Amino acid sequence: MTPRLSLETNQQQLKQLADAVSCPCIFDAPLAEHSSWQIGGPADLLLQPENADHVASVVRFANNRRIPLIVIGQGTNLLFDDAGLRGIVLKLGHNLSRIAISNHRITAEAGAWVPGLARKAMQAGLSGLEHTIGIPGTIGGLVLMNGGSQRKGIGDNVRRVWIVDPEGRLLELSREECSFSYRQSALQGTGAVVVKVELECEREQPQRIRRTMLEDLRERRCKFPRKEPNCGSVFLSTSEMHASVGPPGKIIEGAGLKGMRVGNAEVSQQHANFIVNRNGATSEDVLGLIAHIRQVVHEKIGFELCCEVRYVSPDGEILPAHRANI
Ligand SMILES: Cc1cc2nc3c(=O)[nH]c(=O)nc-3n(C[C@H](O)[C@H](O)[C@H](O)COP(=O)(O)OP(=O)(O)OC[C@H]3O[C@@H](n4cnc5c(N)ncnc54)[C@H](O)[C@@H]3O)c2cc1C
Repeated sequence: MTPRLSLETNQQQLKQLADAVSCPCIFDAPLAEHSSWQIGGPADLLLQPENADHVASVVRFANNRRIPLIVIGQGTNLLFDDAGLRGIVLKLGHNLSRIAISNHRITAEAGAWVPGLARKAMQAGLSGLEHTIGIPGTIGGLVLMNGGSQRKGIGDNVRRVWIVDPEGRLLELSREECSFSYRQSALQGTGAVVVKVELECEREQPQRIRRTMLEDLRERRCKFPRKEPNCGSVFLSTSEMHASVGPPGKIIEGAGLKGMRVGNAEVSQQHANFIVNRNGATSEDVLGLIAHIRQVVHEKIGFELCCEVRYVSPDGEILPAHRANI
C-alpha cells in the first residue's frame, strides 16, 4: 500500500499522529482481537476513525512518512502474522457506520456491519442484499472484495463508492470505475480506502425478503462451522472451477484432507473449505496447512487452488494467503 523505507516505524511519529487526530487509538493493539481467526501479534498503532477527514489525515500522515498502513473492517477475511504489524491499522467499524435510506437507494458508511445493513434494507422493503445476510464483515470490506454468496457479488448493487486515495483526496467513483468481477474489484491493491457506498435496490415485500434471508441463514447454519474461529471460505471458488473440477470444499474433501491438521489449524470437519483455529493456532500453522492442501490437491488432480483469504505481512503487505512466503 505504502512505499516503505524500512520495517522500523518511529514510535515518536506515531504518538504525534495519535495526538493530532481526535479518534480512538490503541498502541500495541493485539491483532488477534481484530480478526475472526483470532490470530495475530501486536500492531504498533490501531486507529478507529469517525469520519472521512480522519481517514484522509491518517493516510496523508502515513504516506508522507512512509509508514506502513493497512485498512481493515471486521478482519473476517484476514490472516495477520504472529509478529503483528510494524505500522498503522486503520479500522473502519462502528465509528463510521451510519446508514441512510432514500427511495430505493441506500447510503452506508464503510464500517456498517453487513448483516445489519441487509436487515435495514429488508425492513425498508428493498431487495438485492438478501445474499449478504450471513456475511459477518463491513460494507467497505465487502465492496473491496466484491463479496457475496450464492455466486452473487455486492458490486451488482453498487451505484457509487467514495474513497480516500493514497494522497488523502476524497474521490467519488461510479460502479463502472470499480470494475467488479468475481470476488475482485479495481480497488484492490490500490491503497484506496472506501469510506462510503451508495447501493441501489428494488422494491419487494419485506415478508418475501425476510423468507429468503431466513433460508440463507438456515443453510449456513447447517453447512458452515460456527463454534471455532475461522475466516469463512479459504479458497476461491470461481464459475470456471465449478464447471471443470467442482467447488474447493468438495475437491479438498475428495483429496482426503478433512480434519487434516498443522499445529492447531485444522481443515473443518464440517466444511473442507474452512480452516478452523483449534485453540492457539498461529499464522504459521494456517499458512502451512494452506500450502499442504494446495500441494496434495495439485498432486491428485493437477489443479492450483488460489486463496480468497488475505495474509497481512508484518510490513503491511496484503496478499492472497497462498502467496505468503513461509
Ligand atoms: C463465518 C464467515 C462467513 C463468511 N461468508 C462469506 C460469504 O458468504 N461471502 C463472502 O464474500 N465472504 C464471506 N466471508 C469473508 C468476509 O466476511 C468478507 O470477505 C467480508 O466482506 C470482509 O469484510 P471485513 O470488513 O471483515 O474486511 P477485512 O477482513 O477486515 O478486510 C478484507 C480486505 O478488505 C480491505 N478493506 C476492508 N475494509 C476496507 C475499506 N473500508 N476500504 C478499503 N479496503 C478495505 C482490507 O484491507 C482487506 O484487504 C465470511 C467470513 C466468515 C468469518
